[in-house]
Amino acid sequence: MTPKDWLAERTNCFDVSGIRRVFELGAKLKNPINLSIGQPDFDVAEEVRRAAVAAINSGKNGYSLTQGIGPLREKLQARVDEDYGHAGRELFITSGTSGGLMLATLVLIDPGDEVIVFDPFFVMYEALAGVAGAKIVRVETYPDFQIDLDRVEAAITARTKMIIFNNPANPTGAVARPQIVRGLAELAARRDVVLLSDEIYRDFCYDSDFVSPAEFNADTLVVDGLSKNAGMPGWRIGFAHGPAEIIGEMKKLQQYSFVCAPHPLQWAAVAALDVDMSPQIDAYRHKRDLLVEGLADRYELTVPGGAFYAFPKTPWGTGSEFVEKAITEHELLIIPGGVFSGRDTHFRISFAAADEVIEQGIEVLRKLAGR
Ligand code: PMP
Repeated sequence: MTPKDWLAERTNCFDVSGIRRVFELGAKLKNPINLSIGQPDFDVAEEVRRAAVAAINSGKNGYSLTQGIGPLREKLQARVDEDYGHAGRELFITSGTSGGLMLATLVLIDPGDEVIVFDPFFVMYEALAGVAGAKIVRVETYPDFQIDLDRVEAAITARTKMIIFNNPANPTGAVARPQIVRGLAELAARRDVVLLSDEIYRDFCYDSDFVSPAEFNADTLVVDGLSKNAGMPGWRIGFAHGPAEIIGEMKKLQQYSFVCAPHPLQWAAVAALDVDMSPQIDAYRHKRDLLVEGLADRYELTVPGGAFYAFPKTPWGTGSEFVEKAITEHELLIIPGGVFSGRDTHFRISFAAADEVIEQGIEVLRKLAGR
């Protein structure tokens, strides 16, 4: 036996993320044009950074309650009660949105259960559901990345436990049409399937208001967080809300795993909720427009209505071949679509970057299209 033989079978459910692999390739380049990163290019607001320092200096460095500090929970709960419009949603603070996703899959999925994801999907869903022993069922959304409710209905079996819905979506930037959000919420309720809604990009909607399936299906479990909208992905502040029975079990498991979200940063997150981030969202709408205008005549591209990603089709070759050329010949870091999908026909651009970097990326992509 070697240490490798000791590994549990569930380690076969995940591999080094393809996004990490591009990071590692990029680390070798001197001056890459980096459009690969899934985090905002703006920093945490100054008053929020000050609140973090003040919390550390005033000794808020022990564990917090498992469910998070009262002031943060109360503020978020008030928002959720107002936005979602039904009483009885319970909320707690998680260690990033990823922490919420992990707890949700572990308390809801049994081995052999089926979990529906929309392809292309955020990489974490398959890995986490796989670790919990689920069979992954992919429902494709190509070419426009809108969900076809008939396909979802057809994919549901007696073993279907959960549908994971991410809106606005990573990696496509697609925003689901309100009637589809409603239809999905109602379908999950009618077929007795858990709907897990990842709303981490809810503030990044450029052309329409955000609509949550929880508005139409009170049993929807929502995971959310401040990583993207407050520019603090390294602070690991997320939250989850939904039916009390599910939230209760997630909190219990948090006690035995994450323990709590970083305590001093929870105090700073209270301050972050008061910061107006609309200038940043407006700037990201402009970045979206810049990118779409720069590529529209050369690429088959669905205009992203949200998040900070675009997912064009490659003009030649597979996603991997195209991206390899972009990185090795032009030092442009983008992610092959196959990382997020059963198909390797597209690539992901993150426009969470300075306008100059986006412009350089457009120049390279225009050259590559004409090859
Ligand atoms: N969900 C989606 C769709 C994401 O894109 C990300 C971050 N890339 C996460 C969840 C994880 O967010 P966090 O940093 O809050 O764990």
